[in-house]
Amino acid sequence: MYRTKTCGELRIENKGEKVTLAGWVQKARKLGGMTFIDLRDRYGITQLVVEADAPASLVETATSLGREFVIQAKGEVVERQSKNAKMPTGDIEIRLSEIIILNKAAIPPFTIEDETDGGEDIRAKYRYLDLRRNPLRKALELRHRIAHEVRNYLDSKGFLEIETPYLIKSTPEGARDFVVPSRMNPGQFYALPQSPQTFKQLLMVAGYDRYFQIVRCFRDEDLRADRQPEFTQIDCEMSFVEQEDVLDMFEGMMRTLFKNVLDVEIANPIPRMSWYDAMDRYGSDKPDIRFGMTIHEITGLVQGHGFGVFDSVPYVGAIAVEGMAGASRKETDALTEWVKRPQVGAKGLVYIKVNEDGSFKSSVDKFYTPEDLKAIAGAVEAKAGDLILVLCGEKRRTQTQLGVLRLEMAGRKGLRDPKVFAPLWIVDFPLLEWDDETQRFYAMHHPFTAPKPEHEAWFYSDKKEDLERVCANAYDFVLNGNELGGGSIRIHNADMQKRMFEVLGIGPEEAEYKFGFIINAFRYGAPPHGGLAFGFDRTVALFGGSETIRDYIAFPKNNQGRDVMIDSPSQIDQTQLDELQISLALK
Ligand code: ASP
Repeated sequence: MYRTKTCGELRIENKGEKVTLAGWVQKARKLGGMTFIDLRDRYGITQLVVEADAPASLVETATSLGREFVIQAKGEVVERQSKNAKMPTGDIEIRLSEIIILNKAAIPPFTIEDETDGGEDIRAKYRYLDLRRNPLRKALELRHRIAHEVRNYLDSKGFLEIETPYLIKSTPEGARDFVVPSRMNPGQFYALPQSPQTFKQLLMVAGYDRYFQIVRCFRDEDLRADRQPEFTQIDCEMSFVEQEDVLDMFEGMMRTLFKNVLDVEIANPIPRMSWYDAMDRYGSDKPDIRFGMTIHEITGLVQGHGFGVFDSVPYVGAIAVEGMAGASRKETDALTEWVKRPQVGAKGLVYIKVNEDGSFKSSVDKFYTPEDLKAIAGAVEAKAGDLILVLCGEKRRTQTQLGVLRLEMAGRKGLRDPKVFAPLWIVDFPLLEWDDETQRFYAMHHPFTAPKPEHEAWFYSDKKEDLERVCANAYDFVLNGNELGGGSIRIHNADMQKRMFEVLGIGPEEAEYKFGFIINAFRYGAPPHGGLAFGFDRTVALFGGSETIRDYIAFPKNNQGRDVMIDSPSQIDQTQLDELQISLALK
């Protein structure tokens, strides 16, 4: 037996026991004639001691230990002279009678402590060492715990966990596919699933009316901050359901996760907001509702006062930032520069200070009387001491910019506390999104999302305005400004699915070639169905109080989509290319 106990479990009650521990040397130090060794494993750290009068060979072995050596240590549990209340094992130490070095270790390239001196790149290269650190261990434990709770909950509701293939044909989730050449079918390629969307719908056709899977998905996107080319979803689908049934079921799941994992009671019921309200009031389809500072349209109040900038745009909107009326000229100038950054993209910023004495000071005093400014302050719900920030331009773009500004100001004011959880459902999404550049509609969610029954007439209309009005029973689960999940009620009728492809500009042949299997399946008795998927990595990260998903994935990729530890992607052998009958002609 390599060990009788772990490094995290011995307490004062074990005093006098003879034990064998195994683990990694966190550190070894000499003090007087004694050697103290901190021995670490996944479960904790236990202090080992080799007394000054121990046999010479034992003292010698203890002295020779380096950081991260793997050892087996035998001895007796004794009460410590100087106890360490911060460590669960801090009341005891092991007086050693034997040390066996199981493996030596090279000096690690960074210190394996909670606070490490290792930069991100070096830690990524030696991920297996980084994973020895407590913060990462806790992250993976949390991940496991949540997965376990998800399985328990869904199992208790009759869901079956069913695996779907990874080598498939394109799934339209709006990203590029990763493709895999087929040796047995030269010149042909599999696509890795962007999600199991089509398969879970086929499972509904097959009668498995409650499906879930904690599943890897692959999307070849340009990696924006904190996206991974492969990521994990909690993917779910149900038959004979309406939107309400799906929301109920997964509201229950989220409530259970928060309760069982974090002992947090989230809002009951979880609030709902239409997509249109979210855009108008928060400038985002994933609003952070931990704080107010909502957006107000003031177009009508500010136009017609001779201020050309406002008069020439379709939309003017504002937010009131609490208690910031005292901002200096320098600060408002800096804010103006901030909103002009490409990430925000505003042309400029107008501010109105609502002074404590009720007077106003604004960057557009020339055009507005104090009464005008008062009316604006009223519309924006600004109080004395607030700073009103105004942006203008095209409606949705300006709202989005105000949304970004709102988050920034909230961040600066410390209103985005990761310990506060404010979930909400966004509902009533538009079904389609018009893209000016390509002059065509895109599915806002994906092409299998059904129009709301009451909007079906518009869905079959040829007029762009009609199609733009069609809403879907689509829904997103949002937490603290992050989209954690989303789904929809699906099309389950072959003709409607064909119409959808037509609306999206996918011709009959292309539709048949890419999605013939699902249109065909719908001819054989498809039940009404719907579902959703949660981003598992992000859910775990937010539960852990972080927005960095990489810390919650055992072996993540970096921002260039590389695994720097195994050095992938990489070239393959000529023989492999030959077998695939592929010759490279890189452009
Ligand atoms: N397949 C969708 C996604 O990956 C989720 C769903 O509609 O169930 O976003």
